[in-house]
Amino acid sequence: MLLRQEESLRQKGRVYMAPRLHRDAFYIGGEWRTPATTERLAVENPATEEIIGSVPVSGPDEVNLAVAAAGSAASEWGLSTADERIFVLRQIAELVKASAPELAVLVSDEIGTPITFAEQVQLGLPIAVLESHIRLLEEGALDDERMGTSLVTKAPMGVAVAITPWNYPLHQLIGKVAPAIAAGCTTIVKPSALAPLSTFSLFELFDASDLPPGVVNLVFGPGAAVGELLVSHPDVDMVSFTGSTRAGRRVAELAGTGLKKVTLELGGKSASIILDDADLDSAVKATVAKAYQNGGQTCSAWTRLLVPDRLYDEVLERVVTEAESFVPGDPREPATKLGPLASADQRRQVLDYIRKGEAEGAKVVAGGAYDVPGMTRGHYVPATVLTDVVPDATVAQEEIFGPVLSVLRYENDDDAVAVANNSRYGLAGAVWSVDVDRASRVARRLATGRVDINGAAFNTLAPFGGFKDSGFGRELGRYGLEEYLQPRSLQL
Ligand code: NAD
Repeated sequence: MLLRQEESLRQKGRVYMAPRLHRDAFYIGGEWRTPATTERLAVENPATEEIIGSVPVSGPDEVNLAVAAAGSAASEWGLSTADERIFVLRQIAELVKASAPELAVLVSDEIGTPITFAEQVQLGLPIAVLESHIRLLEEGALDDERMGTSLVTKAPMGVAVAITPWNYPLHQLIGKVAPAIAAGCTTIVKPSALAPLSTFSLFELFDASDLPPGVVNLVFGPGAAVGELLVSHPDVDMVSFTGSTRAGRRVAELAGTGLKKVTLELGGKSASIILDDADLDSAVKATVAKAYQNGGQTCSAWTRLLVPDRLYDEVLERVVTEAESFVPGDPREPATKLGPLASADQRRQVLDYIRKGEAEGAKVVAGGAYDVPGMTRGHYVPATVLTDVVPDATVAQEEIFGPVLSVLRYENDDDAVAVANNSRYGLAGAVWSVDVDRASRVARRLATGRVDINGAAFNTLAPFGGFKDSGFGRELGRYGLEEYLQPRSLQL
């Protein structure tokens, strides 16, 4: 695969020059294993369009080995104490902190996320999530609970498969591996084929820690082949999947057939609702930033801005000014706020959505479906604002996963709630009002797993996950940890 992809890029005149990161191994049972196959996945830097590295594709034998390694480590790790788990989680947190600058560069090179964002969020979040799991264990999250005449104990789920997407590759991985370690589970990780290099580097840090062999294992490969082998493996007890709703449905189907527990963190089309008494400055600034962060490739991005009719023109003007500050640039440049999209396919899909939006009657008031001037290489899409978007328009309904913000009108609070809930997704959202009680009342009516009021900070202890087609199950904090535990009640 590497050779085919590389050849096609060469034919397009984009020849790779920089040092390559060939990560030619899987991590199974505490050892780096040489792949049996010659098949490789090429990794492209979406800003330079150069091939920067590759990883091998796992075959069925390697998948079986990884599941067997996780299976044989499960009983002993499942009996480890909270203190032993805290010890390794702390080691891993320290190792990630020490390597954060290089890991941030790697994530930025793999997916095009701006380097400052990579440092603050792509690395900041996994470190915070590791630390939050240490805290949960210290606070007794695994302690037995008395319920009348019973004692409820928390048993680990066992062998967990963790399948991750490319947009926050390390955060999504730690969001699964940290609770698995904390709960006493063992895992087999399969990262996205678009961003496997940073995952490989993270596993080098796991390897440097005192995690016993087999507690974490790493395989690579396309979802339909390697992912499905893992999900349907009879010796896997649970699957934690983050990715598209389309793939999530298939994962749920396979897991259902095998009667495996499954958690699904899927897509989103979240609404930011500006109520008529909101501080417009902060609401607009934060909404635009959230819509475009990571190039708009964020599951919880606020991609629909809901504005009261009478404030529409004023808000729109502010939105356009703010959007224009997101000038596409070199992701390695610290001041860059908008990098390229992660792949040529992603860019094509986003441009198609913008064109479709226009065809359905929306107006482009910033950005648009064009090549960014001055950017001769890279999968760039300009920061785009669509206005006159009606609630049922494709661009208001489907996840675009690019820097595209749709601005919609509403009449009153009831209407705002109805428009926000007019979505098959239900992942996140925001409400803005100087009256926090009023904002909270509106927030409680939203069919969505997380709502930020007046731009409140991300909390790694609060549950993260979706309603409706955004999936089920939760990640982060106590609720996320409990996904990896099963209660056992002893009647005494
Ligand atoms: P994707 O669904 O194409 O792939 C995600 C992962 O699933 C990859 O590792 C892929 O190889 C694997 N996969 C694909 N098909 C599979 C199958 N049939 N069986 C098993 N595994 C399979 O998604 P993507 O393009 O990598 O990521 C973008 C999507 O992820 C967006 O829809 C985004 O909203 C979603 N996402 C959700 C969250 C969340 O927490 N809710 C977070 C980040 C991203």
